[in-house]
Amino acid sequence: MADNNTLFGKIIRREIPATIVYEDDDVLAFKDIAPQAPVHVLFVPKNELIPTMDDLQPAQAALVGKLVLAAAEYARREGFAQDGYRVVINCREHAGQTVFHLHLHLLAGGHLGRFGT
Ligand code: 5GP
Repeated sequence: MADNNTLFGKIIRREIPATIVYEDDDVLAFKDIAPQAPVHVLFVPKNELIPTMDDLQPAQAALVGKLVLAAAEYARREGFAQDGYRVVINCREHAGQTVFHLHLHLLAGGHLGRFGT
């Protein structure tokens, strides 16, 4: 994905450093640089540039499933699945999306505040 010049494209290509915590053929996960919870990990597709959730196509349903399952597997592996966690995808301006490469936030590590406006 040489033409992906987003920040996350550069992390996928190891052009800028990140603390990578999970990787398979389709998904890369790394710690958020500005964590909003004790655990804050970003799960991104490695091989496709999908700018926002609104750009997802039906043919990419399996890829979305892989992102979600990778996050669930990580939570089990790290031992906080039983206590619980939150998954968030921000889409565009009103959600505060800043990196236009689809990513799933995994937040955990204590009671999380309710979300809203
Ligand atoms: P968004 O707001 O687009 O949903 O999420 C982008 C996330 O990327 C933010 O939570 C932000 O803290 C994180 N982020 C921004 N720059 C970097 C970086 O250079 N490295 C890492 N690991 N995360 C970053």
